[in-house]
Amino acid sequence: MMLELKAINTYYGVIQALRDVTLHVDEGEIVTLIGANGAGKSTTLMTICGILHPRSGEILFDGKPIHELPPSDIVRLGISQVPEGRLIFPELTVAENLDLGAFLRRDKVDIAKDKEYVFSLFPILLQRLNQAGGTLSGGEQQMLAVGRAIMARPRLLLLDEPSLGLAPIIIQQIFNIIQKVNSNGTTVFLVEQNANQALHIADRGYVMENGRIILEDTADRLLASETVRTAYLGM
Ligand code: ATP
Repeated sequence: MMLELKAINTYYGVIQALRDVTLHVDEGEIVTLIGANGAGKSTTLMTICGILHPRSGEILFDGKPIHELPPSDIVRLGISQVPEGRLIFPELTVAENLDLGAFLRRDKVDIAKDKEYVFSLFPILLQRLNQAGGTLSGGEQQMLAVGRAIMARPRLLLLDEPSLGLAPIIIQQIFNIIQKVNSNGTTVFLVEQNANQALHIADRGYVMENGRIILEDTADRLLASETVRTAYLGM
């Protein structure tokens, strides 16, 4: 297993947001975590990337515990997050935003290669290179946020609701790119409210309600499951 969460309990002060969350991601997979607003999906990602620390439980990456490490150490190990709401730096140019994604790296030649890779995925970013991030459209900002995360050269890419607030055609583009990045060798853990689209690109999925995992299965079986169809696909 590449990533393993074992009985994770995370709190905001006295409020318990995650309850015994156990899940795993294998190398090469796309795994999705779906659930309604407030279910605990973002909290799960923030606990994995070290912004929050669990009160109990363990998180293992390549079999080694990471749940007490600071975020910078976790990025160095090869985990990088695209946060919800994109959170690019609006005053900085596209080029500067991408450079920030690589700020923990010293391998200049490979950084340049990865920048070329990002432009091959998102040609529009090359056209907007010297434009301030804040002047991009929502879809372009999401592409920049994904591009910035790729600049850290992650083995595991964490995505928090990349489809949020975007038009269907842009969502389709972003999901296609996520599949492409995955087929090029990056493992993906995708948090989404958009259960239908997420399950269509994922290998496996987990369903979260009130801080707990209530279902886990292959994406195909989740798409067919009665619970998922009524609660998350509106069928
Ligand atoms: P969304 O799709 O809205 O981001 P989510 O599934 O990601 O939803 P979380 O943001 O992880 O859900 O929130 C889980 C629970 O923790 C919710 O009940 C939320 O109100 C609570 N929560 C989140 N952030 C905080 C905070 N900073 N302080 C206190 N409670 C919080």
